[in-house]
Amino acid sequence: MATHYDYLIIGAGASGSVLANRLSAKGAKILILEAGGDDSNAHLHALGGFTQVWGSELDWKFQTTPQAAMANRQIMINQGRVLGGSSSINAMMHVRGNPRNFDYWNYLGNEGWSYKEILPHFKSIETYEGGDSVIRGTNGLLNVRDCPDSAAPSSHFRQAAVELGFDGPDWDYNGERQENGAALLQFNVTDSGERHSAADAFLKPALELDNLHLKLAAEVSKILIEKGKAKGLEYVQEGKSHKVYADQIILTAGSFLSPKLLMLSGIGPADHLEDHGLKVEFDLPGVGQNLQDHVQLPVIVRSKLKQEMPTLLTGNVLFFHTRKGLESAAPDIQLNFTPAAPAPLVPFLPDFGGPVCIFLPILVQPQSVGEVRLASANWQDAPLINPNYLSCDIDVKALKASISLIREICATKAFAEVYGGELGPGEMDENAYIRSNSSTLWHPAGTCKMGYDQNAVVDPQLRVHGIEGLRIGDASVMPAVTSGNTHVPTMMIAEKLANMLEA
Ligand SMILES: Cc1cc2nc3c(=O)[nH]c(=O)nc-3n(C[C@H](O)[C@H](O)[C@H](O)COP(=O)(O)OP(=O)(O)OC[C@H]3O[C@@H](n4cnc5c(N)ncnc54)[C@H](O)[C@@H]3O)c2cc1C
Repeated sequence: MATHYDYLIIGAGASGSVLANRLSAKGAKILILEAGGDDSNAHLHALGGFTQVWGSELDWKFQTTPQAAMANRQIMINQGRVLGGSSSINAMMHVRGNPRNFDYWNYLGNEGWSYKEILPHFKSIETYEGGDSVIRGTNGLLNVRDCPDSAAPSSHFRQAAVELGFDGPDWDYNGERQENGAALLQFNVTDSGERHSAADAFLKPALELDNLHLKLAAEVSKILIEKGKAKGLEYVQEGKSHKVYADQIILTAGSFLSPKLLMLSGIGPADHLEDHGLKVEFDLPGVGQNLQDHVQLPVIVRSKLKQEMPTLLTGNVLFFHTRKGLESAAPDIQLNFTPAAPAPLVPFLPDFGGPVCIFLPILVQPQSVGEVRLASANWQDAPLINPNYLSCDIDVKALKASISLIREICATKAFAEVYGGELGPGEMDENAYIRSNSSTLWHPAGTCKMGYDQNAVVDPQLRVHGIEGLRIGDASVMPAVTSGNTHVPTMMIAEKLANMLEA
């Protein structure tokens, strides 16, 4: 194996897999390093299997610091430590986000990132039959299917939304307009009914090429910087430390570990690095700041229908605004609905003594912002993660407004056949219910944000400010998290970066 490459890619997750595919196709000589092992575990491929690997060696198992506005709880944020990264353990929902999210990125000074400019990259990633061909892709490597689990869709939920004045019941939320339409969720699932991860869709086919090399169980411990230029990496494999060099380095370790690795390499807030005895290569105060994550809250109602258990977590969705005056912004709530307790989650749910349905409002434009800091200068230590969940009251208000809309849905004619009474929050105090029962949707973003303000870490070409030869291409560069699940927007970022780069 060579010791000098055109590109080194750190992390073979959602974004790393896309970059490895696209850059190797241009003929570049690439090494991609992944801290985790292969994805041969069958649970990673079965539709309902991903919760089985939570807490295993395939999961980084991050814990937040105690969250003061969430009843002082520490929240587990699972992240994939395996080929494909979180793309191999996620819930497979395919959600691009709202066009206004990207226009906002552009508005912040990030030229080239408006919706119109990034739309071709969303299209080139996917194959989805049945959408509007001006907006949807039909020739990409990633398969997208309407909910492939016959037990997860609910016409009752979608018809109830239509009764309340929303569009639907078969809205394409990845089409021209995302919000205000009741929809079947779309999933990254193969035609034969298995997970279609970024590793399966992008990385594995590219590994046929001689110019792409992969190292598994190889954790990068440091980026080597000389005179303001990234020259190479130190990584640890089977307990031994190695060095490898390249012209360009691309960091795709995800929103917790990309800022951690920057800081360990001397790029970050100077005072924080000095506190840990680290040499400062470049003082970049925004590294690890601007952590944004989506919060989910289960609202449980008793169901009068006996229903088969869904294999997927959910099958139905509605994006909406919780307040008047937000109409020209991206929606602040994504409401998922599952007509029965989904089989993968049953071990985690209390026994309600009969069938239940689960509404899941998700705060997709959180105002509460947190940070990632180093716990120590030891590369083996997890970083300190403090998302400051629900620290802004407006986030709690948005969740309360969602509960009100759920109650309206439950009171419709279309839902009468299903609704058997509210269990949670039910009679409980709403504030206390929200603070004690909400948790993460595993969508951390923004910790190496793109832009030019004092907290910006990369420019719109995703070059790390102040350091040559180093780019970041993962979810951490989002200046603001998207209104929806973050997998496909992250792949779009990698696709756009690959387009900007030469072989
Ligand atoms: C449980 C769960 C459910 C989710 N559900 C959905 C969903 O249904 N739909 C959706 O759109 N999104 C979902 N997501 C989010 C989505 O998967 C992520 O947004 C996306 O994978 C982020 O891509 P990334 O490339 O930034 O990071 P990742 O995909 O996490 O990849 C980072 C990779 O880098 C590796 N790495 C880290 N540090 C190092 C190092 N030092 N050296 C070498 N390798 C390293 C990691 O092991 C990992 O493989 C979910 C996530 C989780 C965890």
